[in-house]
Amino acid sequence: MKVYEGASVLKFLSGNISAGDINMRCPSCGFDFTHIREVGTLMGQDEHEAVVYKGTGIIGKTKSRRSAIQIIFDCEGCTDTFALVIQQHKGNDFLQVWADIGPKNPQRFRWYEPDE
Ligand SMILES: [Zn+2]
Repeated sequence: MKVYEGASVLKFLSGNISAGDINMRCPSCGFDFTHIREVGTLMGQDEHEAVVYKGTGIIGKTKSRRSAIQIIFDCEGCTDTFALVIQQHKGNDFLQVWADIGPKNPQRFRWYEPDE
C-alpha cells in the first residue's frame, strides 16, 4: 500500500473524461474509469474527538486523533482497490489517496494500521 498526501493527491483528480467535471483516477494505472465500492468512517484515536460520521459505519481506524471518511474505489483498468481519505485535523479536512488496499491484502483493506 502507498499513501499519497499533499500536492501529490491532485494528480488523481482529473478532468480527462467529461470536460469541466473532475473525476477520480486510479493511483496505480492512471485509468479514469473507477467505481465507488464502499464509504465508511476510519475511527480516530481520541475517545472524546473521534466520531462515527452520520450515515456511515466503522470500516477501519486512523492514527490521527479525529476520525476520517474513507471512500473506497475499484479500478476498471487494473486490479487495484484504492481509497480517497478525508482526514479531519483541527479545523481542516486533509485529502489523501491510499493506493493498492484491496484484494492482495484484505486485512489491510479493513483495518489499516498507519504505523505498520
Ligand atoms: Zn487501475
